[in-house]
Amino acid sequence: MKEGILVTCEEAKQTLHFHLDGDDHHPHVKLAHHHRVTCAHCEAHLDQLKEVERELRSMVQLSAPCSLHERIMKRVQSTPQKRPLYGSVDRGKLM
Ligand SMILES: [Zn+2]
Repeated sequence: MKEGILVTCEEAKQTLHFHLDGDDHHPHVKLAHHHRVTCAHCEAHLDQLKEVERELRSMVQLSAPCSLHERIMKRVQSTPQKRPLYGSVDRGKLM
């Protein structure tokens, strides 16, 4: 823990969507970034989201078969989600 880092794991996760959308100038993103580089848990979570998004993008571009979609959905659903709201929003984006 370093001084001045007020972002919790939950708050850092909430900013991941800004980060994934490329909105790195959002003030919370910078705070969350400082948190993530010192928090292996959040970093792993970000990697997971990035991987899902990457697969989603390739799915859109290539019109991948349903099996890929199901695979992604299973992976997302198997991801530990401590915040039910966050999980539902995440799945909502996938639909
Ligand atoms: Zn964390």
